[in-house]
Formats: sequence, structure tokens, C-alpha cells
Amino acid sequence: MKDKKIIIAIDGFSSTGKSTFAKKIASMLNYLYIDTGAIYRAVTLDCLQEDIIKSVSPFAIDMDRLVERLSCIRIDFTIEQETGKSITVLNGKNVENRIRSMEVSEAVSQVSGISEVRSFVDSILKKFGEKKGIVMDGRDIGTTVFPDAELKIFMTANTETRAARRLSELRSKGDTTTTLEEVTENIRKRDEMDQNRKISPLRKAEDAIVLDNSEMTIEDQMKWIKSILK
Ligand code: C5P
Repeated sequence: MKDKKIIIAIDGFSSTGKSTFAKKIASMLNYLYIDTGAIYRAVTLDCLQEDIIKSVSPFAIDMDRLVERLSCIRIDFTIEQETGKSITVLNGKNVENRIRSMEVSEAVSQVSGISEVRSFVDSILKKFGEKKGIVMDGRDIGTTVFPDAELKIFMTANTETRAARRLSELRSKGDTTTTLEEVTENIRKRDEMDQNRKISPLRKAEDAIVLDNSEMTIEDQMKWIKSILK
């Protein structure tokens, strides 16, 4: 296992702690970690900034402009020197905090349901996978992007735990106004849209191992993955 680099695909519901878990696995194995949700969020932020999406009601997307805009979007990841944290970079700008805002969370599942957006993101993801040695988290990594991934994990947790986690993430990024009810509603809506969209809906790959971490600490989860990797 030590010498053979593999692809680890981690899919699951919003705010199940996929990225925390995936980052820890990547650092343990010295693998590259890719947050695929961050890429969909960055595309959504760009479209909001360009007024391609109107997030105030009625919600509207200018499809022609969106498809045209994709060729101008560059997304990279970099590591912040002081903290060692992974930062999402959109067309040269650090957007790590802005992509986690409620405005982006409200629009991202609509944007990620568009086939041209999915093809655009998939082409970025497949490039990352060429060299193996990656941990990727998202919704369709084990089903669509890397159906041959050597290890697939499907994460779930109860809604209350997930909402509390998302709220604490928002607070840590300086959002003092969003309420627990708003976060819970957003999680429910995204679950619904992610599971029911036509292209690459969120579902467990047949060969994925389920991890329900409602009652687990990150240390518990690391013990679990070590036993699996053995
Ligand atoms: O993981 P995160 O919650 O940041 O993802 C944001 C949104 O991006 C999800 O709700 C989903 O709509 C979309 N997404 C997706 N496919 C992925 C990753 C994320 O559709 N592989």
C-alpha cells in the first residue's frame, strides 16, 4: 500500500466533514488533496460577480453568458504560508472565504446542475487524477469522475450535526448573522437538489464504504481509515 499511489474518492452529503477528513488522509499519505466543491463554488462566485446569476429573487441564470464565461475562468489551489491551509484561487485572487458565503451556498447547487459546468469541472479534476496519489472529495467522484478509484468512501451524518458544523465554519470566517435555521434549510435544499439532479446526482457508488460520522470525532475517523488502508 505504501508504494502504490491510489485515488481515494470521498463523496457524501454537505457538511459531513468530508474536507477535514480528506485533508488529514492526504497529509498522512503525502497525497494531494482536491476540494471539488470549492471548484463549483468558485465558478458560482465568478458568475455572481459577473452578474450572470441574479441571486435575489427571482433567481435567474443567463445560460448563454455562463457557457461563454467558462473559458475565462481559471481555478487553482495554493497553500497559505502562515497557516498551511489550502486556498482556492479564482483568476489570480484568493477567494477562500468568499466561496463559503451563504450567497454562494444558495446558488451553487443550481450552477452545479448545469451540464456545461460539470464538463468544465470534470476536465480540471481528471487532470489532477492523472498522477494518482490524490484524495478528492465531492458528490460524484466515485460514481462519475473516477469510477475506477481504488478506494471509495461515502460520508453521511445527521442533519443537526451537519448544520452545527456549517454554522461554526461560517462563524470562524466572520459571519455573525446567519442563523442555525437558515443553515439547516440550506443543507436540506442542497441535499434535495444534489440527489435529484439529472446529471451525476449524489449517490453512493456500489463499491463505496459508508462512513456515518454523526457520533465520531476526527480521531475516530482516522483510526477507521487506517484500519481500512491496512
Ligand atoms: O462540498 P461543498 O458543500 O462545498 O459543495 C458545494 C456544492 O457543489 C454542492 O452542494 C454540490 O451542489 C456541488 N458539488 C457537486 N459535485 C461535486 C462537488 C460539489 O455537484 N463533486
